[in-house]
Amino acid sequence: MPTGKTCRGAIHVHSNYSDGSGRVEDVISAAQTAGLDYLIITDHDKLRPEQHAFQGRHGNLLVVYGVEMKARMFGKKHFLALGVDSHEPYRGLTFAEKLERIDRDGGKSIIAHPAGCFKPWLAIAHRRWKRFPEGTFHGMEIWTYMHDWVKGLRLSRLREQYRDPDHSLGGPDVKLLAAWDALNRKRRIAGIGSLDNHARHVPLFGVRVFPYEYLFRRLLTHVEIEPFTGDVAKDISRLLAAISAGRSYFANNAIAPPDGFRFFAESGDGGHGVGAWLNGGAQALRIESPCVCEMKLVRNGETVMTEVTGEMELRDPPPGAYRVEARLDGAPWLFTNHINVGMPLVT
Ligand SMILES: [Zn+2]
Ligand SMILES: [Zn+2]
Repeated sequence: MPTGKTCRGAIHVHSNYSDGSGRVEDVISAAQTAGLDYLIITDHDKLRPEQHAFQGRHGNLLVVYGVEMKARMFGKKHFLALGVDSHEPYRGLTFAEKLERIDRDGGKSIIAHPAGCFKPWLAIAHRRWKRFPEGTFHGMEIWTYMHDWVKGLRLSRLREQYRDPDHSLGGPDVKLLAAWDALNRKRRIAGIGSLDNHARHVPLFGVRVFPYEYLFRRLLTHVEIEPFTGDVAKDISRLLAAISAGRSYFANNAIAPPDGFRFFAESGDGGHGVGAWLNGGAQALRIESPCVCEMKLVRNGETVMTEVTGEMELRDPPPGAYRVEARLDGAPWLFTNHINVGMPLVT
């Protein structure tokens, strides 16, 4: 039963080991100042021993150092490999082989920015993923803060969009949400909120888009696990297992703090949080929000309930893959992983 307490953290951040602007030490210190519980850094292509050495506890912050790899040697389709020690074993393999090997090594693969992002005037061209691999991958970025912001940029509104990025976001891509819902009718594919932040300096305007700490107060993935114990290996494996099992929701904390939010199913044997797969069905689905919001319950990709409220209940839910979306004054705020009710698990 979820208590409403979560471990919250930022996923997909670049340091100056690849094309980010900050030293890892500074990125870590920004995450500490923002009060994160965990931080997942993923530089491009390489994970060398000197990078991996940063993995571990830094005060109250747990740092996981993964790597953002290319699905294919040429092309701009990326994925995150988490819980691996080095990029070396995966060099020269096909995408399917990489996924298989990462899974065998106990790591987790997360498809990065699958909605794509095409902005020729900023020299950004990431293609949309039209098909997802048959092989074992564990999750995908459903909402990527920087991609969402860049997609919405208009030359005529740049100043306003820089000053108030949160209200120029559209939220997760609608086609991607539909694809995610379809995948989750058969097997659990976890969704996460990510940043893909490089904290790039834009000399023309003399600004940084966006400083690390600034984004560490925004789109975070809140994982429903017990607090970290200090045993680094166990904490990392618990964190990555929970993320890849979909035991999380992701929310823009700058819109409102989501602490206390709960989406759970009640069945004969108690309450079950996000990520649960209840073959035997459920008596009710419940949503509790710390604030009144525009709440939407989605089943198999279709909206089944929508209301401006702080709580919602669906009794005797018919079988399906359910998730929740919440907006505040029209701004995208919080998105949960699925709870599957009364459906056989295919894999
Ligand atoms: Zn990328
Ligand atoms: Zn990236």
